Amino acid sequence: MPKGKLTRIRLIMRIAVLLLCAAVVTGVSIYLFKPDLFARAGQEAEETEEQPPPDGIIKPDLEPPKPEPKPQLDAPAPEEAPVIPEEAPPKKQAEPGKGLIKVDGNNLFALVTKQTTLGRYAPGDLQTIPAGFVHPSRRGSKHYLRREPLGHLRDMWAAADKAGVQLTVTSAYRSYDTQVSTFNYWVELRGEAKAVTFSARPGQSEHQLGTTIDFNIDTNAGKKQHDWLAKNAHNFGFAMSYPKGAENITGYIYEPWHYRYIGVAAAKEWKAAGKPLCVFLKTKQ
Ligand SMILES: [Zn+2]
Repeated sequence: MPKGKLTRIRLIMRIAVLLLCAAVVTGVSIYLFKPDLFARAGQEAEETEEQPPPDGIIKPDLEPPKPEPKPQLDAPAPEEAPVIPEEAPPKKQAEPGKGLIKVDGNNLFALVTKQTTLGRYAPGDLQTIPAGFVHPSRRGSKHYLRREPLGHLRDMWAAADKAGVQLTVTSAYRSYDTQVSTFNYWVELRGEAKAVTFSARPGQSEHQLGTTIDFNIDTNAGKKQHDWLAKNAHNFGFAMSYPKGAENITGYIYEPWHYRYIGVAAAKEWKAAGKPLCVFLKTKQ
């Protein structure tokens, strides 16, 4: 082999050895001074291996981890937090509904539906219902009816009592403002869509007429009341406003406890017609 070529091979080998040494020294240095680089490389290798879900079950309802709360530097210390007065809940339809047909509450046949309004009507001849007619749980406050229906309630109460049935009133006259609270209460509790099926909006409740009564028919004793009223109430001028199966006509669920006074002759006529009260009253307008 010529001497020149041998020298060149030796030179290349020396360079190769030097490069190898340099690589080894660099590797050792990184391992000693930056060990996390090795750790991370190992972790990445592990993470790329796909892990099957435990038991093969995917739980879509698992909550994503919550981010660490960041300290709010500008927030006051809890004990220094300012007291913010609670905002009064907005009153739903605080004013009598616009676009609705206004009806006169003094008319015994007033058409009280979801398309009409009594506005802020209040009867002028309200009288207190004797406490003995009221359900014990409702005797904490006074209940009122207009003079004429109260007279007929007295007669009806006496007739029922004679038949061994004790009628108990749970609700009677409700003012516009009371109905605002009542309706809002149910909206809060059950949501508006549900509330409107059993609670009238202010200005649209027959209770605002002062001629309407709810009887307690929930208990076992109530069953007797229910049966007796269904059979006899019309003879005393009272009609059940929201019968079974007429929800799409009346807009309200079946309310076998809710009776409205329309006068004896009209109530008998209503009973014979066998129609929902609002349909019957339309013929009286
Ligand atoms: Zn009622």
